[in-house]
Amino acid sequence: MEKLVALCKRRGFLFQSSEIYGGLQGFWDYGPLGVELKRNVKAAWWHDMVGGHNELVTPPGAPGTYEMTGLDCTIIMHPQVWKCSGHYDLFHDHMVDCRETRKRYRFDQVRGRWVEAKDQKIFVTTTVEADEEQADVQRRALKFFKLRPKDAESLKYDGDFATLDSVQEQEKVLGPDAKELGTLTEPREFNLMFKTTIGALGGEADTAFLRPETAQGIFVNFKNVLDSSRMRLPMGIAQIGKSFRNEITPRNFTFRSREFEQMEIEFFCHPDESHKWYSYWRDRRLQWYKDMGLSSDRLIMREHAASELAHYSVGTADIEYAFPFMAEGEYGELEGVAHRGDFDLRSHMEGKLDPKTKPMEVEKNEHGQPKHRGSGKDLSYRDDLTGEKYIPHVVEPSAGADRATLAFLCQAFSEDEQPDEKGKMQTRTVLKFHPRLAPIKAAVFPLVKKDGMPEKAKEIYGMLKEKMSTFYDEKAAVGRRYRRQDEAGTPFCITVDGDSLKEDTVTIRDRDSLKQWRVATKDLVAELTERLS
Ligand code: ATP
Repeated sequence: MEKLVALCKRRGFLFQSSEIYGGLQGFWDYGPLGVELKRNVKAAWWHDMVGGHNELVTPPGAPGTYEMTGLDCTIIMHPQVWKCSGHYDLFHDHMVDCRETRKRYRFDQVRGRWVEAKDQKIFVTTTVEADEEQADVQRRALKFFKLRPKDAESLKYDGDFATLDSVQEQEKVLGPDAKELGTLTEPREFNLMFKTTIGALGGEADTAFLRPETAQGIFVNFKNVLDSSRMRLPMGIAQIGKSFRNEITPRNFTFRSREFEQMEIEFFCHPDESHKWYSYWRDRRLQWYKDMGLSSDRLIMREHAASELAHYSVGTADIEYAFPFMAEGEYGELEGVAHRGDFDLRSHMEGKLDPKTKPMEVEKNEHGQPKHRGSGKDLSYRDDLTGEKYIPHVVEPSAGADRATLAFLCQAFSEDEQPDEKGKMQTRTVLKFHPRLAPIKAAVFPLVKKDGMPEKAKEIYGMLKEKMSTFYDEKAAVGRRYRRQDEAGTPFCITVDGDSLKEDTVTIRDRDSLKQWRVATKDLVAELTERLS
């Protein structure tokens, strides 16, 4: 992972936000290569889910035909949206504060181990990444017991790593940055929505929120989309956009950021059909990650147990990936696919529903009135063929553009041994992106910077640049130029040599197999276009 992080910075995939001022935790900027990669991830998703979807044909595994369309909603919405959606009351994590260091941690992310020395047993905690946990706990335990590194063997460990919630005796806990025991507070709720103020007056009534998900923009526009597009159910509305969550402990590179992009679909269907659509979307979305190059043995589908589900839901599954910064056997969520019943549309009609009631009823305040009033608008659907009127059920495949981009980077990163110009074996770093995702599709090199080769190469570059993201390079030995493109993940390098001028042909070199072959210049665009799709 360290090598990948270094490569991302060196080659301009990712930078820490505001780095010259020391950075801002949980915020990341995409550099010149990163922006292309992430745009390609989003474009592939949009094309495969929305733009390229043929509503006249039943896709393999689908219960029938369906329509797809898109939206682009605002980040700041009416505050009532978040009250009815449940985010205002319920969107929180548990945090603990350290009385000694004044630092704050997410309760479920503090892990530790029982350690005994000098007749005292304490629970030493840490928040570092999985592969450094043991070293950190040992270092802190030695310091606490005033032992030297050479005394490490005198530390006795009881049990494996565990989370803080497994510990009953809080007075024996050594907080992640504390010197004393028992400095962590009881866990408290912390709402993850960023607050902002609308207008110049800035009273409590002007408080608004940066959206923590894009989904609600789709629900509140459901009627607008139906009325303006004459679409029929089943149909999905997709949106890609920024979301914001004030994560207590952002970590693991871009995996948990405070500002990130989501790619969400709300799929509306008849309640009797929702089970089948849920299964379809779950399988479809898992397959998409495989088609884009994530290996099957690093992907899992984790179905939530029935006890974890709200009663209105037939299922929720997380698509998870074995990110290299996670402990062996652990996976991180790439996407959640949830069956949400009619919870969201009804909440925006009637007022925030109490998901614990069956059938669901509007949650009341102490005066017996709705705790959060809905819009009062009718968000039901009338089927013009059957005349049936109903509130659609929703299946929600909700993906993160940044997490997907990070997974594609982790999967693509590889090292092999290849001979350099002098035949000496050298380590080659290569990003083996799926060609659809690669930031640069082709690089054009004149073999040498003379004999008319640069002129010919520039002509070819101009021709390719019209069609795809292309890079021109005439500096340094050709082997070095290949290496630079391998590191950027460019699938094809085109070399112009002496024969190119005589025969009007070029050499294509494949990034992964390193095979080289000649094609006529006139066939180059067609050949590359086919290989890139
Ligand atoms: P987690 O449990 O990891 O916090 P979540 O279950 O809260 O995630 P959802 O609310 O289901 O996530 O959001 C849908 C998707 O949005 C996630 O699968 C993930 O890809 C992305 N996402 C959510 N939170 C973040 C974040 N802080 N940084 C980057 N991506 C995120």
